[in-house]
Amino acid sequence: MDVHILRYKKKKPSKHVCAECGKVLHGVPRGRPYEIGKLSKTAKRPNRPYGGYLCSSCARKIFKNEARK
Ligand SMILES: [Zn+2]
Repeated sequence: MDVHILRYKKKKPSKHVCAECGKVLHGVPRGRPYEIGKLSKTAKRPNRPYGGYLCSSCARKIFKNEARK
């Protein structure tokens, strides 16, 4: 069952960053795809539009721009 005896720890994937400003996003778990798959959908990223893609301030900016159109 346990195959981790002689293994080094695998590197974690890099942190998620905001697509707009590059700030590190919070509320998005770091992990390999199989680890992320074990998590519930709401645990994977903030439950709002652009959650896990843009930081809150950039998302707000986009909402304002969209409202203006
Ligand atoms: Zn941002």
